[in-house]
Amino acid sequence: MRDSFDINSNDNALFTTAMCSNRCLMCCQPPSEKNDIEMLWGKNIKLIDTAPKELPSIGVTGGEPTLLGGRFFELIRHIRITLPNTEVHILSNGRAFSDKQFTRQLGEIGPEKILLGIPLHSDNQLDHDFIAGAKGAYTDTLLGLYNLARWSFDIELRVVLTKLNYQRLPQIAHFIYRNLPFVRYISLMGLEYTGYTIKNAEQVWIDPVDMAEPMCEATLFLASTGLDVSIFNLSQCVLPERIWPFVRKSISDWKNRFEPFCDQCRLKPDCCGLFATSKKQSLNLHPLV
Ligand code: SF4
Repeated sequence: MRDSFDINSNDNALFTTAMCSNRCLMCCQPPSEKNDIEMLWGKNIKLIDTAPKELPSIGVTGGEPTLLGGRFFELIRHIRITLPNTEVHILSNGRAFSDKQFTRQLGEIGPEKILLGIPLHSDNQLDHDFIAGAKGAYTDTLLGLYNLARWSFDIELRVVLTKLNYQRLPQIAHFIYRNLPFVRYISLMGLEYTGYTIKNAEQVWIDPVDMAEPMCEATLFLASTGLDVSIFNLSQCVLPERIWPFVRKSISDWKNRFEPFCDQCRLKPDCCGLFATSKKQSLNLHPLV
């Protein structure tokens, strides 16, 4: 956890708790049972109070930040008052927003400059709940998405790409188009090979080159409908050229690295690079000359 925010960093985030209501099979930050909310609270308030006023964005992450309960709203309100021009990017599994009263409390703070990043693992309950490691997660998350939409919040729907869901990417894309067309962004996200992904590698890890066809179909379909789709955490050399325009430089600066051969690659200036934290990389990385 940082001691201060750096205005030049692309990753200034408040780590609010390591606790979570899901147990996702590929979680990069395995949750803890220990209640650490009080322990982290003072440090987070200090980070907000000492942040540069022109800070472009601030993340609110965990674990699951909504487990702070009433203090979650207190935290968001404090950011709003202290840093009125800063975009707030909340990463949540969305389940707490299935409660209309809970969502109303965020709605009363207002949707301006707030973006909620919420994962959807599948188009069906069985797969989503299995990947999330929690029964009822799918229903809660979908209800949460609809409740947030009623308050006009911007939502970034995040689909983490794993061996368990890649084959249904086209179905997931159609599901989003039919049922969640109000989301502002859709992010298809490559795996960070750390945390639970190491433990569950047999189940979840797949080399990105082996996902090429369903990824192309899903990405190009979503783009054709006018939805704003992006690919995060994957480099162009492991993806078909037709979806390169959707690739974003998404990896936080402090955990980003390149291979020595990347110096020969013409795409390096626009490449997101690799997770320095990943214990394994694609076997198909190669410079494009
Ligand atoms: S070779 Fe390196 S710089 Fe080039 S696309 Fe692959 S990861 Fe990016």
